[in-house]
Amino acid sequence: MTETEKASATVLRAGGGVYDVQLEDGTVAEASLRGRLKLEQRTGDRVVAGDLVTVARDGDSITIESVLPRRTELARRAPGHGRKAKVMVANIDRVVIVFAAAHPEPKRGLLDRFLVLAESNDLEVLIVLNKVDLVGDDFISEFLSPYRDAGYETLLTSVKAGIGLDTLKQQLCNARSVIAGPSGAGKSSLLNTVQPGLGLRIGAVSEAVNKGQHTTVTSLLIPLECGGYVADTPGLRELGLWGLSADELPFCFPEFADHVCKYNPCTHTHEPSCGVTSAVESGSIDKDRYRSYVTLRTEAVGAPKY
Ligand code: GDP
Ligand code: ZN
Repeated sequence: MTETEKASATVLRAGGGVYDVQLEDGTVAEASLRGRLKLEQRTGDRVVAGDLVTVARDGDSITIESVLPRRTELARRAPGHGRKAKVMVANIDRVVIVFAAAHPEPKRGLLDRFLVLAESNDLEVLIVLNKVDLVGDDFISEFLSPYRDAGYETLLTSVKAGIGLDTLKQQLCNARSVIAGPSGAGKSSLLNTVQPGLGLRIGAVSEAVNKGQHTTVTSLLIPLECGGYVADTPGLRELGLWGLSADELPFCFPEFADHVCKYNPCTHTHEPSCGVTSAVESGSIDKDRYRSYVTLRTEAVGAPKY
């Protein structure tokens, strides 16, 4: 009997015409695309990791028939004209940004880039400050205060001292997360505390990209044994900003929203009666955060600094 069964599934990996899907019972199988979707895939990002799809199952053969609307997209835009987005991964809940408190020294400018990337995709953020065993409390609160003031959720962790690991696990096990952050921050070590071997799996894709190997350049979604998923998105872990327009940038700094400017739109750089620049002068917006804004704006418009 060859009765066709319909079911829904989650795409774990999409690339080179082959799709790994996770079926509702948790099993992972290879699937192909239905003809119409195949055509669309050539012109856009019709099916990516994280997509929820309907599949038809006929014996051993599984075909992706349709893609359900996405809740979220993590997209990279080509800078400048066209602004066509390339979706890297779909239906992600949160970007977990990992920085070390020391070794390597945390760079606010880089953290701000990751935050802008998350904001521009309307994704929730968790800032993890790892290796807190290496620094004092004063350093931690000083480093994190602008981010806490801006409304970001923060978590202190130490793999070495066993701090914050249960909370991190809870966070990862009930959501779909993308992990980002500079090399050496402790991402792999943290992931290994959530599930042994996970750090290695997550690192593999990014490593291949960093070394210029062209084998795996698509994103990968890994189901966790405790529930939830972690995505590995090539290029995201260490690069940060993906082509963003200068107009969008002010909306990627949540603390700017509380301030009113005379001009609308306002670039918050040279305009008179600008609520944002006044707030920077009075100290209610952090100077380093504002400096990151100006740097990123300069990059986005390709213009000289004011
Ligand atoms: P990744 O590049 O972000 O994946 O970082 P790794 O997980 O490879 O960690 C980089 C180095 O930092 C390794 O030598 C880890 O043993 C070390 N490390 C990770 N977490 C901690 C921590 O909480 N405290 C300390 N002192 N070292 C850590
Ligand atoms: Zn302004």
